[in-house]
This record gives sequence, C-alpha cells and structure tokens, in this order.
Amino acid sequence: MSIAETPTRANTEAPTVDEIATLARQLQGQVILPDDPNFLAARRLHGLSTARPAVIVRPASAADVAATITFAREHQLELAVHSGGHSLAHYSVVEGGVVLDLSLMTAISIDTENRTARLEAGLTWGEVAAALHPHGLGLTAGDTASVGVGGLTLGGGIGWFARKYGLTIDHVRSIEVVTADGQMVTASADEHPDLFWAMRGGGGNFGVATAFEVELHPAGMVYGGAIFYDACDAAVVLPAYARYAAAAPEELTTMALVMAAPPAPFIPPAMRGKPVLALTMVYSGDFEEGSRVVDPLRRLAAPIADVVGPMPYPAMFEFTKEATRFDQRQYARSVMVDTVDDALISALLSRGLDLPSHGALLELRILGGAMRRGRGDGGAFAQRDKGGLVMAVTYGYDEADIAQHCAWVDRCYEVMRPFGSGAYVGFMMRDDEARAGAVYPPATMERLRQVKRRYDPTNVFRHNLNVEPAGE
Ligand SMILES: Cc1cc2nc3c(=O)[nH]c(=O)nc-3n(C[C@H](O)[C@H](O)[C@H](O)COP(=O)(O)OP(=O)(O)OC[C@H]3O[C@@H](n4cnc5c(N)ncnc54)[C@H](O)[C@@H]3O)c2cc1C
Repeated sequence: MSIAETPTRANTEAPTVDEIATLARQLQGQVILPDDPNFLAARRLHGLSTARPAVIVRPASAADVAATITFAREHQLELAVHSGGHSLAHYSVVEGGVVLDLSLMTAISIDTENRTARLEAGLTWGEVAAALHPHGLGLTAGDTASVGVGGLTLGGGIGWFARKYGLTIDHVRSIEVVTADGQMVTASADEHPDLFWAMRGGGGNFGVATAFEVELHPAGMVYGGAIFYDACDAAVVLPAYARYAAAAPEELTTMALVMAAPPAPFIPPAMRGKPVLALTMVYSGDFEEGSRVVDPLRRLAAPIADVVGPMPYPAMFEFTKEATRFDQRQYARSVMVDTVDDALISALLSRGLDLPSHGALLELRILGGAMRRGRGDGGAFAQRDKGGLVMAVTYGYDEADIAQHCAWVDRCYEVMRPFGSGAYVGFMMRDDEARAGAVYPPATMERLRQVKRRYDPTNVFRHNLNVEPAGE
C-alpha cells in the first residue's frame, strides 16, 4: 500500500466514548472533548478556524505523546500537532481528528555555566526570552512572543539576531522526538543524524518534538527599537535602508514595515493610524558602537519618531504585541529573495501603500550574515543564500472585509512574486502547498522524503507542509 492510500477515517466519524476513555486512562495529561464547555477555548488557534477536532489531548510527558500518536494511528484519525498555535495554514487544528496540544509541556532548565538550555516544545518564545533574560542570555527566535518553540524551531527560526547568530536551528544540539511508531528517540549529530538534519527546517513531517537542547548566546540588553518615517518618504528611505542594512555589521538585524502608525505615545497624534514606514532593529553588541551603526538609518529623511536605544531584549516583543491576539483572521503571502533591491522596492511601493486597515503590514526583512553561513551541517533549511524575506500580511479584519484584505495581499504578492527565489515554510498558507518546491529545492526534498519514509512510512504526520506528494 502506498502512503497516499493509508486509510483515513472519514472526518465525521468520531472515536467512541469508550475509545477515548481508554486513552484518557493511559495519560497523565488532559483529554478535552467537544462537549466540554472549555473545548472551543482549548482549541486556541492563532487565527480563526471553524475546524472542530474530535478530541484535544494535552500531554504531560513524552509517554503521553506516544500514547496519543498510537491512538490516532490505530483509530485512523488525522493528527494535528499544536505547539504555539501560530500556523498561518492552520495546521495545528484538524476537523474530526486529534489535536495534540503541547501547552502543558513548558518546562525549561537553564545551565548558565555552559550556556545551554532544555526547552519543552510547548513553550512560547516570549516565555523563553523572559526566563533567559535575567541570566543575560537568549536564543534567536521570532519577532512575536506568542509563537511556539515547536513550530518555529522545526521550520528554521528567523529572528532578531539572524545576522549575528543565524537561525534558531543553528543553536539546536539535540531534539527529543516521539516517532510515528510511538518510540522516544533523541536526534542529534551522533544519534539519528538523518532525523536531526530533517527536523531542522523540515517542519513537523517526521515526529513530535517534545524538547530541544539548545545553545544560548548573550542577549540581555540590546540596542534596539524602531525608527518611524512618514510613508510618503518610503520611496527615498526604503532603498537606502535596504542597501545599508544588507552591508551593515552583522550585529545589526533589521526589518522594515509599511504599516498604519500605532496609537503609541511616541507617535505624533496627527500621524496615528496613517501609513508609516517603521525600521525595526536589534543591534547586539556595544551600545556606543550600536548607536554609531544605527545613526545613518536616522538620517534617511525626517523621522516622525525614534525609539531606538538600549533595551532588554524581551522588550522587542512589545512592537508585535497586537500580533499575539488569537481571535483574528489572517491572510499572508511571502517570498524569499536574493536581494531586496530597488526594482523590488519600487514594485512593492506601487501597490503596498494603500493599506486596507491598521492590521495590514508589508514586511521586508534583510537577512545574510551568520544565517547565510549556518553551523554544522546547516539542517534542511534550504534558503540560507537569500538576502531578504518579503511578506504582505493582514490580520484582525472583519468577516465583511475579507475580500478587500485578501485582494490587497494578493496585489502585493503579484508584484513580489517575480522577484522570489524561494519561500519560508513558517510563512506558508494552506493554499501555498503547491509551492513546497520553493521551500525545499529538489535535492533537499529528495533527502527529506528518504528520512520521511524511514521514520514515518505511513505519513501519520501529514498535517503540515507535507513532503510526501499527494498521490504517491
Ligand atoms: C504573528 C506571527 C509572527 C511570526 N513571526 C515569525 C518570525 O519572526 N520568525 C519566524 O521564523 N517565523 C515566524 N512566524 C512563523 C512561525 O514560525 C510558524 O508559523 C510556526 O509554525 C509557528 O509555530 P507554533 O508552534 O506557534 O505553531 P503551531 O501552529 O502550534 O504549529 C505549526 C505546525 O508546526 C508543526 N509543529 C509544531 N510544534 C511541533 C512539535 N513540537 N513537533 C512536531 N511538529 C510540530 C506542526 O506541523 C504544526 O501544525 C510567525 C507567525 C505568526 C503567525
């Protein structure tokens, strides 16, 4: 039988009460059924979804994870793995299937002497940053506090220290994994090295990561924040910014956002809600040198606000606080590009300035540096040579405004697409699945499929950007 023929129970056919009771007896963690008053709240997905799983399991241990995988497999139920719940494609919820929600698995142990930590996969990056900050340590991850350790790490992890310290996966020493047959293994450079390679960039295809052993880096205080310009100046500021940020010392990692100005006290009242260009950044190093490096970005036009200075690294999450809300619709398109050049910027500005609401963002990340070099075998992340990531995203809009918001994103995508030379798995929507080849070029994809067939031959972990093509 081929993988695609693996029988899947019809979504309407829920497991029986007895079947679920048997599972619940095996677990230390929680089992939540649709008739539980907390069921919808427990589904806790970033973004609105109508999918109703048959059961939500919150494991308390790797043994619980193993029992749940076995239950889903034996009952031919689709399995969705939920860490922080931020999948834009809604992979962490499944209609009629089992949601394995890791939110009880949030232990963190820190070895300050050796600068390592063990992070359980249900932690969020905000929790990790808060726990590491008192020790002057951190780990490069995403820009949003509520994103989960599990999903972001398995995709790669492009964060505020990308140019200085590379991707999140560059700091992973080992991964505790429960495989499709319920075995608990450790994947590292020495044990199951093929699985270790695949799970650093290959997403949730290969097993459930229950914990990561990671190396930490200095991240106590950073020279960071944002410089805001009127979007009217974007045609002048953005190209100069992109050139400067790509050539700047690796200590500086930046992201430009075209957005509606937030109602923050540092924004002049007349500009609140108006389109602005925010140059957001972290300089990781000496503050005086940081100030010197950042200074040219303050003089690209007349800034309307400048809130860059020494700050605790976790304070950077304040800039993306609104994105942590779970109760909002979202729609996004993105590409990875070789360089963020003048042609791309002027194409984007021709479409991207007519923001449909305050929840619309055009995002340009300047990459390179340590991310380009990687560490060790580099894992399955195949986009290291890309100099930038461009995304149009809208969130928090009303049902009635869907068409307008999606049309704006699609217009931006239309112009960015010809410049794209790759894609990031973490930013894929469900209808982007045909673009799996943009995330994993042929040689990477072939290697991922070999690992997949070894560790998950019946495609239990298919509720993701699946490396097994439909119909094989
Ligand atoms: C607001 C927002 C901001 C973001 N910012 C960044 C950013 O700055 N940098 C960046 O790199 N990415 C960013 N992302 C993308 C993010 O990394 C991915 O969406 C990621 O998958 C989210 O991880 P999660 O654990 O929160 O998601 P979930 O929805 O819980 O998981 C997504 C999928 O990942 C897999 N998965 C998750 N945990 C496990 C596990 N423990 N074992 C096996 N499989 C698992 C499963 O297939 C799961 O369905 C952002 C996303 C959003 C919505």
